[in-house]
Amino acid sequence: STPFGVDLGNHSAVVAVAKNRGIDIVVNEVSNRSTPVIVGFGTKNRSIGETGKTQQTSNLKNTVDNLKRILALNADSPDFEVEKKYFTCSLVDKNGYAAAQVRYLGRQEEFTSVQLVAMYLNKLKDIAAKETKGNIKDICLAVPVWYTEQQRRAAADACHIAGLNPVRVVNEVTAAAVGYGVFKTDLPEDEPKKVAFVDIGHSSYTVSIGAVKKGELKILGSAYDKHFGGRDFDKAIAEHFADEFKEKYKIDIRSNPKGYNRVLVAAEKLKKVLSANSQAPFNIESVMNDVDVSSQLTREELEEMVKPLLDRIHVPIEKALEVAGLKVEDLDSVEVIGGCTRVPSVKARLSEVFGKPLSFTLNQDEAIAKGAAFICAMHSPTLRVRPFKFEDINSFSVTYYWDKDAEDTDHLEVFPKGGVFPSTKLITLYRTSDFEIEAKYTHPDQLPKGTRPEIAKWKISGVEVPEGQDSAICKLKVRNDPSGFFTIESAYLVEEKEVKELIEKPEAKTEAKSDEKSEDKPEDKPEDEPEYKIVKKLVKTKDLNIEYEGLALPKDVLDEFFEQEGKMVAEDKLVAETEDRKNALEEYIYELRGKLEDQYADFASPEEKEKLSKMLMDTEEWLYDEGDDSTKAKYIAKYEELASIGNLIKGRYNAKQEELRQELRAKQEA
Ligand code: ATP
Ligand code: MG
Repeated sequence: STPFGVDLGNHSAVVAVAKNRGIDIVVNEVSNRSTPVIVGFGTKNRSIGETGKTQQTSNLKNTVDNLKRILALNADSPDFEVEKKYFTCSLVDKNGYAAAQVRYLGRQEEFTSVQLVAMYLNKLKDIAAKETKGNIKDICLAVPVWYTEQQRRAAADACHIAGLNPVRVVNEVTAAAVGYGVFKTDLPEDEPKKVAFVDIGHSSYTVSIGAVKKGELKILGSAYDKHFGGRDFDKAIAEHFADEFKEKYKIDIRSNPKGYNRVLVAAEKLKKVLSANSQAPFNIESVMNDVDVSSQLTREELEEMVKPLLDRIHVPIEKALEVAGLKVEDLDSVEVIGGCTRVPSVKARLSEVFGKPLSFTLNQDEAIAKGAAFICAMHSPTLRVRPFKFEDINSFSVTYYWDKDAEDTDHLEVFPKGGVFPSTKLITLYRTSDFEIEAKYTHPDQLPKGTRPEIAKWKISGVEVPEGQDSAICKLKVRNDPSGFFTIESAYLVEEKEVKELIEKPEAKTEAKSDEKSEDKPEDKPEDEPEYKIVKKLVKTKDLNIEYEGLALPKDVLDEFFEQEGKMVAEDKLVAETEDRKNALEEYIYELRGKLEDQYADFASPEEKEKLSKMLMDTEEWLYDEGDDSTKAKYIAKYEELASIGNLIKGRYNAKQEELRQELRAKQEA
């Protein structure tokens, strides 16, 4: 399959694929390089991406956006209430998680956030498959650095539901930094360059400090502000005008969802205009109750409105530097991405905090998707990519807990905050019987608010205490895998056994490590013959069973969602095809009617003309009436009915044309 990288933004998603020539951005059905992250529900079908955006204002209650914010969001988290303010559909609590309540196919439905993200990813898959005419299966999905195990698992589950294989979930800014490391041609070979990567998007703000040299990237520190992005600017502008219009026009825009949404859309436009101009007009016709509103805003006024946000811009930078153990002066460059960094006051503040000019080496909108596609290609068995090593760091400490048995302790912080991943550690436990072990975040208070600390539980079975011992020695290979998931890769028993070991002689240290080699040496003198000693060593005696119970969806639920998604896709497809057949019928009526009076006129008998004209008129009337909303089969049948006569006439016409062509050729040849 074609390696596929996705930057699932809160505002829009960017998709890239890896080809032999390099990484390409995939354009969508209307040739845009990014696609709105929107899923809309209708009476017959879903409208995802561009079509969802087009219909948003007229279908607010059944339109879901801000998808990445609600993915696996706990309903009891304070963020649930925060997010509600940005949603136009109802956000509800479904089994403890945020879900969207919408009307779909005439029924009230609740879709979980995992299902919603799956719907959207499926659409992106379709876009990529159409554009590349390739098979899209493997995906590297970029997620915010603040995504916990819960959200990462949900992201991977969403991929599965969309029929994708998540080869890796990667932190967004890390993906961009990988792209920087891979494609920048003038990186140092030895002493790495210290680079701060800053991404401010629609909803969140991330800083990662990386050490980059040729062929290698190490993330040294990351920090974030989960509630800092373009949407906060839009909201501030909308709120400002809501107040102003109350005074000026005596209308309460906040009480009118459609009107408020139009103000919000206009606010985003205004914000963008103010990035290039010091002042801009703000006009909306008939925003509500037939009132036209008209105003304006200056760049300074906008800055004043978002001052509380701008005043916090230094926080993630300082935190990331602290984790990295660096000072701003140590940085060689500050690379900036994300749409919100186009705002002049944001740029100015960033530059001020870093004490140096900002660099825009990376494509602000496409760097994450490109990096993700490259990472997906790294995992591809068929595509060869430039060798590149990278490691990320843990945003939250993780501790493994067990019930104390023969050990001294009952827990161990295995993966500390700031530790690198992927990484594998070996834990040794002394057990008298089968046991459970659990992974949890060490400091729940350091997690995004409302995150539950539990990560996973494993049942380890098959423990047997060797004869004459008090306990069995269990070794657990625990892993923080490339996607950041916390797993137990293997578990086994070891026993102390007496083994024969070669006595290494000082001079043999580097040349001959195994006895075989030393025997091979013809010049070996008798006194160099290998000597052995008996030592006690831990030897693996048995593999243990591991039963995982974590935050990923159980297989049966996943299968059910997969099937449901397939059905919805089939429904959408049928609606689209029906629409196509209807349009084809309509066009055929006009075409045939025109030709019947023109080039076909001499090829139809008067009876045929009369019959066909009547059929055309009847079909047209039918289309305006009950045929306005009919089935694909009906549209095809009506078309065929017309074509049965139409093709007859067309056949005669074509035969005559051919005859004339032959005559002409004969004349030319004569
Ligand atoms: P996130 O990373 O937070 O999940 P995202 O990746 O979708 O969201 P981006 O595409 O990086 O976000 O940025 C989108 C934001 O940038 C929007 O709020 C948009 O209005 C804003 N934006 C885009 N262009 C400009 C501009 N010229 N001036 C100001 N803001 C802009
Ligand atoms: Mg983004």
